[in-house]
Amino acid sequence: MKRQMKCLKALALSLALGITLAFPASAAWQNESLGPGAAQWIEEVSPDGTVASQPAPDADSHFTAPEDHSTTYIDGQPVSLTTPEGTSLGVPEIPVTGTEATESDTPAAAETAPAETAQTETQAPQQEAAQPETAQETSQASENPNLVASNGRMVDITKPMVALTYDDGPYAPVGNRIMDIAEQYNGRVTFFMVGDRVKTYAAEVKRMVQNGHEVANHTYSHKYLNKLDAASIRSQVEQCNNVIQEVTGVRPTIMRLPGGNKNATVLQNVNMPIILWNIDTRDWATKNAAKTIDAVLGKVKDGDIILMHELYSSTADAAATIIPELSAQGYQLVTVSELAKFKGKSLAANQIYYSIR
Ligand SMILES: [Zn+2]
Repeated sequence: MKRQMKCLKALALSLALGITLAFPASAAWQNESLGPGAAQWIEEVSPDGTVASQPAPDADSHFTAPEDHSTTYIDGQPVSLTTPEGTSLGVPEIPVTGTEATESDTPAAAETAPAETAQTETQAPQQEAAQPETAQETSQASENPNLVASNGRMVDITKPMVALTYDDGPYAPVGNRIMDIAEQYNGRVTFFMVGDRVKTYAAEVKRMVQNGHEVANHTYSHKYLNKLDAASIRSQVEQCNNVIQEVTGVRPTIMRLPGGNKNATVLQNVNMPIILWNIDTRDWATKNAAKTIDAVLGKVKDGDIILMHELYSSTADAAATIIPELSAQGYQLVTVSELAKFKGKSLAANQIYYSIR
């Protein structure tokens, strides 16, 4: 019912703005059974009704749901929780969530998906693939034993490091901007991707691997796994790994639960390390670069895992400040797997990690 109301609102808005709403078949998974936050997110549209990102989304790009990061579901019941302090390495704790957002916080936006723009995916710049070591890197390493070659650049394992993570993509207009900025600062980030979007943005996803970023699992179709049975949970995880491996040759080794939602069945069937977060920028709710920046800067600590989403131009705008500023503060931007490796932690299947110190 609520969703129907929102659909009507979106339709009214679209008529007012002269926008054609496109409802691709792939939006079929979007329904109330997915829980709050799953019903209404649509590709980003600016207030004047045009797609904000320069390259228009592919005509068949999905409607996707933002995480409802503010509500945790345990056995189907919403539970309000606070952010745990410090690391929770290896402990299957209650997830990090915070405030009170509900489905009603999710803005209904109209999508403009021009039918003739299916091939507008931003092509990945031709950059050298991440190479483990160069002569220069080897030389640097020999001078400083703390410098380790990783994913095409050097990381000082004695200095602070954080993991920027971007969910719900791939989405080339935003993801390529984030990579452009990160790579200028020798940063590598982690993309938790929805499997059924991967082939739409295959060039972008290949770039992630070529340039040393981490490709990670966010289920095949962004199902809230606490709503599924064991076989379906395993299928959501496996299908996502399969398509990422098919496109990139690399099989993800970490996953993130859509919405952070879990129950005992989820924790017995994901069979991968579960990476949540300890800093939630709420970028999907604010779509405001300044607020996203504020959520990170000033709060960040060594070993933090920061949650953002790959779907919003405001998140890429925020990256243009966050990444240089964190670098200036001495933080190295590493993937989640690098963070674990350099902190000397091995990640275990079906265990939840919020930060790694
Ligand atoms: Zn998500």
